[in-house]
Amino acid sequence: MKKYDYDVIILGSGPAGFSCAMQSSKFDKKVLVIEANQEHLGGAWINSGTVPSKALRETSRIIQRYQNQFPEEAKEKPYSKYLMGDLLSYKDQILESKNKKVENDLIKNEVDTYRGYGSLVNKHTVEVKNWEGEKKKFTAEYIMLATGSHNKAPDGFKVDHEIVLDDNSVLSLTHIPRRMVIIGSGINALEYATTFSSLGTRITILSYTSEFLPFLDHDIRSELNKVLADNSIEIIEKVRDLSIGVNDLRGTVEVMHTLKDDKEKGRKYVLETEHVLYLGKKLPNTDGIKLDKVGVELDDEGFIKTDVTFRSSVESIFATGDVAGFPRLASASFSQGRIASCEMFREDNSLEMPDQIPFAIYSIPEISNIGLTQQEAIDKGFNVAVGRAYYKNITQGDVSNQQTGLLKIVFDQETFKILGIHIIGERASDLIHLGQSVMNLGGDIRYFIDHVLNYPTYSEAYRIAAFNGINFVHKAGVKYKKILK
Ligand SMILES: Cc1cc2nc3c(=O)[nH]c(=O)nc-3n(C[C@H](O)[C@H](O)[C@H](O)COP(=O)(O)OP(=O)(O)OC[C@H]3O[C@@H](n4cnc5c(N)ncnc54)[C@H](O)[C@@H]3O)c2cc1C
Repeated sequence: MKKYDYDVIILGSGPAGFSCAMQSSKFDKKVLVIEANQEHLGGAWINSGTVPSKALRETSRIIQRYQNQFPEEAKEKPYSKYLMGDLLSYKDQILESKNKKVENDLIKNEVDTYRGYGSLVNKHTVEVKNWEGEKKKFTAEYIMLATGSHNKAPDGFKVDHEIVLDDNSVLSLTHIPRRMVIIGSGINALEYATTFSSLGTRITILSYTSEFLPFLDHDIRSELNKVLADNSIEIIEKVRDLSIGVNDLRGTVEVMHTLKDDKEKGRKYVLETEHVLYLGKKLPNTDGIKLDKVGVELDDEGFIKTDVTFRSSVESIFATGDVAGFPRLASASFSQGRIASCEMFREDNSLEMPDQIPFAIYSIPEISNIGLTQQEAIDKGFNVAVGRAYYKNITQGDVSNQQTGLLKIVFDQETFKILGIHIIGERASDLIHLGQSVMNLGGDIRYFIDHVLNYPTYSEAYRIAAFNGINFVHKAGVKYKKILK
């Protein structure tokens, strides 16, 4: 007789839990996924984060492109031409089919599911309380915590889902707002800012940090600043003392704040808006799981501490995805869930997260990067050279009427090895993978001139950037014969 009901019990069916379930089933293990959401599987990935925000973004991008192509169309703002309901109905169809797909994949792979809120009883036992209030206990050799994260609003205002929205309620808007203040310092703030700005909404981003998205390479930042200026998107940094009120006389919402290090110390600034979108600090979904019962350790910010295979401080308990902290992305969560499963069920597991993972910001236009920025490479002591390709010099940019964009390769002047790739422009999040592959397979920038790439494509940017970089090295005094392989 088996010692436990299951080989692994997984709390949460987002990308971290889902990938752990799928990989474990491939090892012929008995798997139970417990999901607290009564209606949907798939977590923030499918229902409120990654997929729906991208679907809305895609609609906005198409509208913006259409207006750029036919300037006559741009005379009327999208918010007076389109209904939010129509834009979001396309998103609803995607969510429905993705939800069905997750459910079918779990069924096909013989993964059991149970709906309810799971919490730890001991190192091998989970108790689940379902929506009727019934409690049930399950045991397993391993427990995977993949419960995700949530936004926490600061003191001073409340997310009421009517005026002040979050990443869930923004997707239930019935109209396209004329004016929106976005509170947040992360990539989602930029994504929603450009998504709504493409629909004609006037956007102000209020950021707590002293530099918005400080990890961007400086050339990418310069291009981004031009995009923001062209779209009249304002970013106000070092914001403090936020509060929100309704001005009944003017029929507007007022966002009040002060600024850190303001010359006029304590001055209160007021912004009038129609809606506020709060995308602030993310906190792990750990409340109520009873981690303290079994001694699972947390880091300073409350995320679950793990080793490189996502094992927590308790041997039989793993944690992956947002609840385990940085980078809090669906992309990384898929790999983390799989790595943890391999650690549980594969002897001599050697899988770990790769050193370099790509990051993407689905703003309009997209931004994506992998590896070191130019400054980071200099600081690390490399003999740095860069190659740049502007979209206005790429034939595909002309063909698609996409003149805004830059692909930049940071490389070592002596070995030509790629140290980092930074892209802003159409298809950046896909384009990055060509550079990532060359980089990870030990190639160097000469790959892009020694191989034939389809033409016209945005990938041509790699060829142009490689030539630009090589010319730089040549001008610095290295003979061309020495540069070529
Ligand atoms: C607006 C937005 C846009 C995003 N865009 C991107 C993007 O473009 N690319 C990208 O890679 N990432 C993106 N992300 C991040 C991505 O959505 C998350 O990193 C990812 O969903 C985290 O996966 P997870 O499995 O850890 O958690 P989740 O997907 O949040 O799933 C956790 C699940 O656990 C369930 N749960 C919670 N507590 C319990 C419990 N006690 N018992 C049982 N079940 C429980 C929840 O109901 C939920 O279904 C975005 C996020 C947001 C908010």
